[in-house]
Amino acid sequence: MTATHRCLILAPTGEDGALIGEVFTSDGLTVKVCSDVPDLCRELRGGVGAVVVAEEAVTAAHAAEIRGLLDEEPAWSVVPFVMLMSSGEGDDAHRIVDLFGMHAKVTLIERPCRAATLTSAVRVALHARERQYEIRSLLERLESQAKELSRSNDDLTRFASAASHDLQEPLRMISNYLGLIQARSVNLEENLRKYLTHAIAGASRMNGLITSLLEYARIGSAEPELTTFPAAEAVAEALANLRLKIDEVKPAIDIAELSTITADKTLIVQIFQNIIGNAIKYRSETPHIAVSSSQTEREWIFTVGDNGIGIKADNLKRIFETFQRLHVSDYAGYGIGLATCKRIAEMHGGEIWVESTYGVGSRFFFSVARRIERPSVSIDVLAS
Ligand code: ADP
Repeated sequence: MTATHRCLILAPTGEDGALIGEVFTSDGLTVKVCSDVPDLCRELRGGVGAVVVAEEAVTAAHAAEIRGLLDEEPAWSVVPFVMLMSSGEGDDAHRIVDLFGMHAKVTLIERPCRAATLTSAVRVALHARERQYEIRSLLERLESQAKELSRSNDDLTRFASAASHDLQEPLRMISNYLGLIQARSVNLEENLRKYLTHAIAGASRMNGLITSLLEYARIGSAEPELTTFPAAEAVAEALANLRLKIDEVKPAIDIAELSTITADKTLIVQIFQNIIGNAIKYRSETPHIAVSSSQTEREWIFTVGDNGIGIKADNLKRIFETFQRLHVSDYAGYGIGLATCKRIAEMHGGEIWVESTYGVGSRFFFSVARRIERPSVSIDVLAS
């Protein structure tokens, strides 16, 4: 039995403390009888399962001293106290109970009481304390898993970023020299010309892939910079960035009244740009795009609908993973745009999902939490 499971007793009048101690010990409990409040405070520092105190042993000043100690307890800890009251003087006991603060849960028992009543009250208190220690272990496990996850995530992000950087340089050389060869080859045989064109296109595609990967890694490595802004501004910026495509395709674009939100504006522009860009890319004959928003107590939800080629039900989840492309040969792209959107939504405590009817159109939704919580378990919760 560890110190955290024992019962501390403070009942200094006469033989009370020793007698209660004997009753508890004979009932199989681990006890420590304290001589006075400073002694109790010393023992409390070593960990405790429950405390039994006689009302007359604790003055208001003592209660303040005990509270000072309890206030240092971690968030999960509420120490159970069983206070033995003298009958008829309940008001004083209640006043003292309040002084213990929020890290104590006090049960009042009026004297004289039967030994069995007291033992069962202490057993209930010890049981409740046991549960708290289980919560602590769970929190510790959660915290270490969260730390491990965050560490391996950082490692991966660093790896992706470093590998992308390192790959860019040799690739630039390959592209440059292929370009030089192409420029200087005047009478190149037809097949060789074709091979060279393929090689240049491959190098250029690889460059695009690496740039997208770098972008994806970069987004995951920084905390979002939160400001409050009308979401319509983010949509307007996204449309300005897509201006060339919009002028070429001329889709009908309806924008409903949108919420004002607190988020990282650059990232929200990017998410709209990717989704609206896709709505233009995977379009039907007469493209129509509609942007709207709604809100709940917890989050803002944005919807971008299109009447494009649609997505089969089997693919609705996998398009949000990196490099997952459904129309590899018909459309240009790197399969990272929606994975980036997913990352951005998650960084904002939200999600991204799609509803679609193949051949009819799709509706992409993403949410942004009104209060963005950090994903890892706070160390404060565990600090003692
Ligand atoms: P890509 O660079 O291929 O566009 P994304 O990650 O942006 O990569 O999208 C992944 C895949 O999801 C696309 O290749 C496409 O098959 C599908 N997709 C995305 N948006 C739409 C849409 N609006 N309509 C139909 N299919 C879409």
